[in-house]
Amino acid sequence: MTIQQADYLVVGGGTAGPALAARLAEDPGTSVLLLEAGGELTQREALAPALWPLTLGSAIDWQYRTEPQPGLGGRRVPWPRGRVLGGSSALNLGGWIRGNAADYDAWAGFGGPGWSWEALLPLYRRIEDSGRGPAPWRGTGGPLRLRAAGPGGRLWDALELALEQAGFGGRTDVNGPRQEGVDTQEMIFVDGERITPAAAYLSLAHRNAAGGNLAVRTGVRVLGLLFDGDRATGVRALDAAGREVRFHAGREVVLAAGAIGSPQLLLLSGIGPAERSRALGLPVRVDLPGVGGNLHDHLRVPVTGRAAPGTTDLPAPLPTPENLRRWERHREGPLRDLAGGGVAFLRTDPELAAPDVEFLLGTGADQDHPDRAGYLVAPVLLQPHSRGRLRLASADPLAAPLLDPGYLTDPRDLPVLVAGVRAALRTTEQPALRPWTAERNLPADASDALIEAHVRATADTVFHPVGTARIGHPDDPDAVVDPELRVRGVRGLRVADASVIPVITRGHTMAPSLLVAERAADLIRGADRTPGPRAGRTDDRTDDRTDGRTKENHR
Ligand SMILES: Cc1cc2nc3c(=O)[nH]c(=O)nc-3n(C[C@H](O)[C@H](O)[C@H](O)COP(=O)(O)OP(=O)(O)OC[C@H]3O[C@@H](n4cnc5c(N)ncnc54)[C@H](O)[C@@H]3O)c2cc1C
Repeated sequence: MTIQQADYLVVGGGTAGPALAARLAEDPGTSVLLLEAGGELTQREALAPALWPLTLGSAIDWQYRTEPQPGLGGRRVPWPRGRVLGGSSALNLGGWIRGNAADYDAWAGFGGPGWSWEALLPLYRRIEDSGRGPAPWRGTGGPLRLRAAGPGGRLWDALELALEQAGFGGRTDVNGPRQEGVDTQEMIFVDGERITPAAAYLSLAHRNAAGGNLAVRTGVRVLGLLFDGDRATGVRALDAAGREVRFHAGREVVLAAGAIGSPQLLLLSGIGPAERSRALGLPVRVDLPGVGGNLHDHLRVPVTGRAAPGTTDLPAPLPTPENLRRWERHREGPLRDLAGGGVAFLRTDPELAAPDVEFLLGTGADQDHPDRAGYLVAPVLLQPHSRGRLRLASADPLAAPLLDPGYLTDPRDLPVLVAGVRAALRTTEQPALRPWTAERNLPADASDALIEAHVRATADTVFHPVGTARIGHPDDPDAVVDPELRVRGVRGLRVADASVIPVITRGHTMAPSLLVAERAADLIRGADRTPGPRAGRTDDRTDDRTDGRTKENHR
C-alpha cells in the first residue's frame, strides 16, 4: 500500500479544489496534495467551447441522474458532473454570473459578516481578469480570464430588441450594481478555447512557486476519511490501477468534491444522520442531520420559437470535419465560442426587490431543422424554495448516491415559473421577433393550466445543485460546517465547494464555488497556527504536475 502525505489534502480537482490548492501553495513552506478522481483534461469536446454538449454522458461525466421527481411528472433528470481535472467547469457553458448582492447578504445570515457581499466582493475582484476592463465591482489581472461571448447575428439583435419592447430590456453588466437587464455575459472561453479555473489556478501556482510544494494526483478516487480520535488525518482511495492508497494530512483535509461528492464522502465516513448511517451498517462518527440535506438547484423551462425554412442566422456549431479542422488549426470557426447566447434578469412582480427570474437566451440554427433559425427564451426560477436530499444508496463507496432535489415540492415555486413562462411568451410576441416566429413550442395565449403542464413536462436542470453541507452557526441544527467551513464535531476537516452554499444565488454556480475556495484559502491561512504536525514538503514526487494547462493549451 502506498502512503503519501502533505500538510493539506484537497479532495476534488474540479472548480473549487485547484483554486484552493493553488492559494495554499502560495506559501512555499506549505505542502499541498490535490486528489482528483478523473484524468487530465485533454478532450476536444471539452476544450472547444461549442462542443460542450458532447461531454455530457461521456467518460468525463459522472452521469448522475435524480430520483423520479413527482413535481416533474415522475421524470428522472440527468445531472452531469465533471469527472476530470477541471470538474464541472470542464463541462459547463462557461458563463460567469455571480448573482445578486442580496444573495450574499443572505449568506451572512448563515455565516456571519465574513460572508456578506461587502466582505466577498474583494475576493471576486481577486479572482477575475475581466475583458470588460476595470470597474469598482469587477476584477482585472486575476487568474481567471473572462471574455465576452461571440457576436450573435441578426436574430440575437432582434431578440434583444424584443426584450426591450416587452419591458425586460436594457443592456447591463449582470455582475454590476444593476443586475436587471440583458447581457451577453463573460465566459471562461478565451481565444476560442475553454480555460477552466483549474487550468488558470494551477498554472498560476506553477509560475509562483515553481510547483515544488503542490502535487496533483489524477485518477485517485477517494473512498472515505481516516481518523485519529476526532481528528481527520487523511483519506483512503483507489488509484488509477485500482490499488488501495492512503494519503495523510499533517494539518487538514479539505473536501472539494462538489455538491454530490463531498456529502457522499462525509456520509461514507459516518458523518451524517445517525439513524441512516446505522441502517446502512456504517459507523456513527458524528450525528449531523444536515449532511446531504438542503439539496437545491435551478430549474429552467424551454420556451422556443423558430422561423420559416431558409432563415438560418448563424452556422450550426456542428463537429463537421471542416469545423473541427478550423478549430484545431487556428481556434476559428463555429466551434470557437458559444455565439448567440446571453441572459436577462427580470422581476415578474415589480414589488420585488431583486430579480426572481432569469432568461437563458439562445439564438442560432434550430436543432431539429438546421435550415431554420431558432431561438430560446428559457425562464429560470432563481430562488427556489423546494429542498431535497442526497442519501447513500448503500455503504458501497463506489455506488452512486440517491439524488432527490425535490423539484417543485414547495408550492411557492410553480407560480414563479408560470409567471416566467408568461414573460417569455410575451417576449416572443413583440414586433422585433415576429419575422423570426413561424412557430412556438407553446401558444402565446396559453392558459395557466397549459403552462403548468408544460413546466412539469419539460422543466430541466441548469446544472446548479448546491447546499448539501451548508454553512451555519453553532446553534443551527442543520448546519454541517461552521462559518470557517470546519465540519462540526471533527477536527482537521473542512468543506470548500458548492456544498457549503446555504442558499443558491440569483446567478450561476461556478462563480460562487470559486469564491468559496478563495475564502477557504483565507480562512485556512489565517488559522495557520492550528495544532498539528507539519508534514514538510509533499512526499509524493512521482506524479507532480503543477502546470494546469492542457496539451492543447501549450500550442
Ligand atoms: C453541463 C453543465 C453546465 C453548467 N453551466 C454553468 C455555467 O455556464 N455557469 C456556471 O456558473 N455554472 C455552470 N455549471 C455549474 C458549475 O460548473 C458548478 O456549479 C461548479 O463547477 C461546481 O464546482 P465544485 O468545485 O463545487 O464541483 P466540481 O467542479 O464538480 O468539482 C468536483 C470535483 O471533485 C471530483 N470528485 C468527486 N468525488 C470524488 C472522489 N470521491 N474522489 C476524488 N475526486 C472526486 C470530481 O471528479 C470533480 O472534478 C454547469 C455545470 C454543468 C455540469
